[in-house]
Amino acid sequence: MRCPHCGNVEDKVIESRTLANGEAIRRRRECINCNYRFTSYERLEDKQFMVVKRDGRREPFDREKLERGVERALEKRPVSQMQIESLVNEIEDTTAILSKGNREISSTILGDLVLERLGSIDKVAYIRFASVYRHFENLDEFIREIQKVGGEP
Ligand SMILES: [Zn+2]
Repeated sequence: MRCPHCGNVEDKVIESRTLANGEAIRRRRECINCNYRFTSYERLEDKQFMVVKRDGRREPFDREKLERGVERALEKRPVSQMQIESLVNEIEDTTAILSKGNREISSTILGDLVLERLGSIDKVAYIRFASVYRHFENLDEFIREIQKVGGEP
């Protein structure tokens, strides 16, 4: 955990204690760099992260599913498993930030987020993902999408 005093990320835990109600663990930590002592609390995420679909139904956020979608879009593309992993991590983190603590995000925003990240690493994957997620209504729309990323239809 990042030291609030010097910013170093290495510390040692000097004391761990479960709070009386059992809902949190309190840890006393000491920075390895400057010996500053600080406290962290560990709590269970009691609310499952939800994705709100277009029709208003909610389903639990499924990291595996997201990863499969990204992998399918990047099939046979020059992108490593490591890049896929970090892309999914990034999306997951951004999702948590965007949800502003209410633990849910719309499937449209999530889809756009994936598109944005895919577009920055591989244009072909972007088109593949867009064609599945946005369900292009007509050819014009598809061509516009391709032109937006600078590819040839
Ligand atoms: Zn420190």
